[in-house]
Amino acid sequence: MSTIFHKIQRREIPAEIVYEDEHLFAFKDIAPQAPVHVLFVPKQDFATLNDVPDNQPEIVGRLALAAAKYAKAQGFDEDGYRIVMNCNGDGGQTVFQIHLHLLAGAPLGRFGTPV
Ligand code: AMP
Repeated sequence: MSTIFHKIQRREIPAEIVYEDEHLFAFKDIAPQAPVHVLFVPKQDFATLNDVPDNQPEIVGRLALAAAKYAKAQGFDEDGYRIVMNCNGDGGQTVFQIHLHLLAGAPLGRFGTPV
């Protein structure tokens, strides 16, 4: 499995990486949907949320907690933020390596409206 996010992780294509540890990395979205838009990606490969095994909840948990930590470090945790994972076609997923979106920096519209 090789996606554009693997290339970012390997520094083969440029991205503004804002965080990395042994489990995950995070970088600014190239097409931000809010003033702050960061993607958190696990280093273990799963195409979609459907593929994460029941016995590995930490894969998803770490992404959410890394996003919260980033929000605190950047000082917008109290103002608030949104985390989102898109899954497959109806969810609007376009890159098939699981990732969590962190959106912040302004009041966000409601979500979930069918297009
Ligand atoms: P999703 O639609 O949930 O699969 O999200 C994929 C996200 O990856 C989108 O928000 C894209 O804007 C973002 N993206 C795609 N290519 C790049 C890139 N080279 N650098 C940063 N973000 C990217």
